[in-house]
Amino acid sequence: MHEIGLCEGLVAAVERRAAGRPVAEVRFRVGVLHRVVESALTQAFALVAAGTVADGATVDLVTLPVRVRCRECAAETVADDMVSVCGTCGATDLDLVGGDELVLESITIAAPV
Ligand SMILES: [Zn+2]
Repeated sequence: MHEIGLCEGLVAAVERRAAGRPVAEVRFRVGVLHRVVESALTQAFALVAAGTVADGATVDLVTLPVRVRCRECAAETVADDMVSVCGTCGATDLDLVGGDELVLESITIAAPV
């Protein structure tokens, strides 16, 4: 379950941004290339976040598609999985510009009780 490893970095990022405040909700942007299963990630996050400021926080995932830019015609191709051919001109000389992201987008601090 590689989600645990991913979550360790994410929880650390949440803790830095929360600076000790309790977190009610976290939102991550995850590139589709990580092949994250949402339920597995949610579970792993709960496990890793236990005892931290993010203990019990709701996890919201935004999945990002694969994006490649063609070095021949500069067109971008967007797909749900890795692509090796430009969707515009058919060239195979492509730069990956999206799809491997794993970033903390936002956190919601719990309202003081
Ligand atoms: Zn092209």
